[in-house]
Amino acid sequence: MALSFRFWRLNLLPKPSLSHLQTTLKALKPLKQKLSPICSLPMSSSSLNPLNSHLSISKNPTFSEPHNPTACPQDDLVVLGIETSCDDTAAAVVRGNGEILSQVVSSQADLLAQYGGVAPKMAEEAHLQVIDQVVQEALDKAKLTERNLSAIAVTIGPGLGLCLRVGVRKARKIAGSFNLPIIGVHHMEAHALVARLNERELQFPFMALLISGGHNLLILARDLGQYIQLGTTIDDAIGEAYDKTAKWLGLDLRRSGGPAIEELAREGDAKSIKFSIPMKQHKDCNFSYAGLKTQVRLAIESENINATIPISSASSEDRRTRADIAASFQRVAVLHLEERCERAIEWALKIEPSVKYLVVSGGVASNQYVRAQLDQVVQRNSLRLVCPPPSLCTDNGVMVAWTGIENFRIGRFDPPPPSDEPEDIVYDLRPRWPLGEEYAEGRSEARSMKTARIHPSLTSMIQASSQQQP
Ligand code: ADP
Ligand code: MG
Repeated sequence: MALSFRFWRLNLLPKPSLSHLQTTLKALKPLKQKLSPICSLPMSSSSLNPLNSHLSISKNPTFSEPHNPTACPQDDLVVLGIETSCDDTAAAVVRGNGEILSQVVSSQADLLAQYGGVAPKMAEEAHLQVIDQVVQEALDKAKLTERNLSAIAVTIGPGLGLCLRVGVRKARKIAGSFNLPIIGVHHMEAHALVARLNERELQFPFMALLISGGHNLLILARDLGQYIQLGTTIDDAIGEAYDKTAKWLGLDLRRSGGPAIEELAREGDAKSIKFSIPMKQHKDCNFSYAGLKTQVRLAIESENINATIPISSASSEDRRTRADIAASFQRVAVLHLEERCERAIEWALKIEPSVKYLVVSGGVASNQYVRAQLDQVVQRNSLRLVCPPPSLCTDNGVMVAWTGIENFRIGRFDPPPPSDEPEDIVYDLRPRWPLGEEYAEGRSEARSMKTARIHPSLTSMIQASSQQQP
């Protein structure tokens, strides 16, 4: 069937050059011979996932055989996953059959509570302090050493460059010392694919709503490495709105703002304050949470809530007001998700009529109210909701290891780095890295509002130049 939609390529992903391609194909040959049937799919240029084409860093064109990846019927694969893209330092060891051998997360929630946000330099410092310990603990809990690993997967983007660097350096150090292949992982792809670890029936194509502190993405996953972006946020992500609302309401942020709002909202009347639903007039699948944040801030100001008085010391009347705001905010924040998902399902079914699942993942997907509301949306549309368990929704190493496994199985990985790689090498980090291509029909003027907000002075120039277009 002819494809009836067009793509808008927002940001071209780097592709391996021909020489890299040849080098890689040559490099993969010795490994290919020893892979089990599922690993030994015929290599072709298409098996070099553009999402994982970070070959330019390899100064080692000849591939020396890795330690153990090859004795692998797929279930015997053992992959260490490392995640440091934002404020969690995480590592995990996962088997090819999905068995989680260990999972360790060191959170910077205390720093976050203290400073009210993530400061890149401080976050880097915090990662550096714990990365060795977190990785060692993951190996110890799995009762393994580096020698038992088949490969290492590490998040290379999107995220904070300084933070990503800590994880990538650690991963390459181990991979170089133990001659292990390495898989560069897209953080948001990992949030989506981890749903396949528990839910074996979850086959491509499926839809995913990925909701966290930094991202709000609606995607259609057509196949491994083939994603269409149906919607994204034009300003803030929903998790950011939860975190700021919690901060302004004087809640305990040590477990991050989301869980605190979820808990307090249970006591409140969700219809007491009439916040308006964002982007009602835009008939697309994009999101916006900056305006809702402002509405919440104004409501808090007009109620004279003093956030320096922690909720635990607030009077019962004050507590009640805060709970009403939390519940009203949550209702509207999630209504926005519901509306966008309804439309995205329509769009996705036009592209891939066989879609049966909506995956909801990322930190905010741990929220029970979010899950219940989205469950109603998918049921109305005869789909099924798949949510990973909360510990796999928030940032974790399991999702990175699992995404590594999925890619490794089809031959998408880099050869081991040299054991004597210099410390100052320029790594291929991708702080901004779109997941797939943008659905052309999903473009709306709302996207240009973002440009207008960032560069107000450019608005008139943009308008003038668009009027000149034929
Ligand atoms: P990141 O945003 O750094 O990628 P995560 O995927 O771990 O990290 O998501 C963290 C976000 O998820 C935070 O904004 C946090 O407030 C939010 N979150 C975590 N649990 C909940 C919850 N129960 N309800 C709402 N939001 C939540
Ligand atoms: Mg995340």
